[in-house]
Amino acid sequence: MYLIYRFIICSHDTFIMSRGHQSGKDGIHRRRDRPISVWKEKDSIEGNEVSALVIILDGPGCTWSKNVGCTMCGYNNDVSEGHIENDDLMEQVKIALDRYDGEPYVKIFTSGSFLDPSEISTTVQKDTIGSITDLSDIDRILVESRPEFMTEDLMTPLTKGDHALEIAVGLETSSDMIRSKFIRKGFIWDQYVKSSKKAIELGCLLKTYLLMKPPFIGENDAINDMISSISDVHSNFPGSRISVNPMNIQSNTVVENLYKRGLYRPPWLWSLVKVLKEGSSIANGKTHLMSSPSGGGKKRGVHNCGECDAKVLESIQEFSIRNNISILPIIEGCCSKEWNEYVSSSSISIL
Ligand code: SF4
Ligand SMILES: [Zn+2]
Repeated sequence: MYLIYRFIICSHDTFIMSRGHQSGKDGIHRRRDRPISVWKEKDSIEGNEVSALVIILDGPGCTWSKNVGCTMCGYNNDVSEGHIENDDLMEQVKIALDRYDGEPYVKIFTSGSFLDPSEISTTVQKDTIGSITDLSDIDRILVESRPEFMTEDLMTPLTKGDHALEIAVGLETSSDMIRSKFIRKGFIWDQYVKSSKKAIELGCLLKTYLLMKPPFIGENDAINDMISSISDVHSNFPGSRISVNPMNIQSNTVVENLYKRGLYRPPWLWSLVKVLKEGSSIANGKTHLMSSPSGGGKKRGVHNCGECDAKVLESIQEFSIRNNISILPIIEGCCSKEWNEYVSSSSISIL
């Protein structure tokens, strides 16, 4: 899924634990009974700021990534090779939950699809959710999945309890052409719609990830693609959540290859502001729009000139919690002229 890759490298409000290592034949051998990382960060529920416990499990990783893989995803760089026992995964969950301190929101990432039984067995899926719902004050639990695993059989057992189960799907774009040709995602819009409708029917909440500026499209097309994708998702699923994820270049990916050859620049922060502003007007406060750019302000992430980045990022973070368009900065001054020229020069569309 798109989202998880961000968390391993982005900055967090409270970093509280990282996975231990032990020596092995190759010098570094990961322990499999410890999560990759656990931390706390700010998020929001119904427009109110809440604290969320974030858990990155050390699972076997995304099946799609092993067989084909998306052009921007370097998740396989950070998952354990070989089989991981159910007991080890449950020990990871236990260790992570030792850090729980009344957070209403728990987010679980697996560098893949939590609902894919070949990654996370259905027993571990159920026991993980069960361990969390046993805690007091749980309001919402987020897991990620590709649409093909969002079946009634797999989702139903995870919805038992008072919590809301939020399923995050890496749709990336509503354009089947961009998703298949430039992202290599391996599913189509109709699959996303069908699976998401089923999830909602079962009482789950939906969060959709959009990828801003996949490879092979320019800045202008990237902006337009995000705005039309927000519109499409909002029309089909009003009231859901949409996270706009600007490209962050990961190691050993098609995107990194292009970047190293000077053929790719991550999107501008001004472009992201424009997308969030126009997207907010479309969603009209109903669908919650957000963005937590990983690598924001860095060369490999969404960035402006370097001088205004921190301030713009701060506004985006605040906007993401409140879903309030007035928090977003006016696009003027600093490098806005340079950005405008860049967007205009990229406006010869191949789409
Ligand atoms: S579906 Fe694509 S983006 Fe998501 S984890 Fe798998 S390879 Fe990465
Ligand atoms: Zn600037």
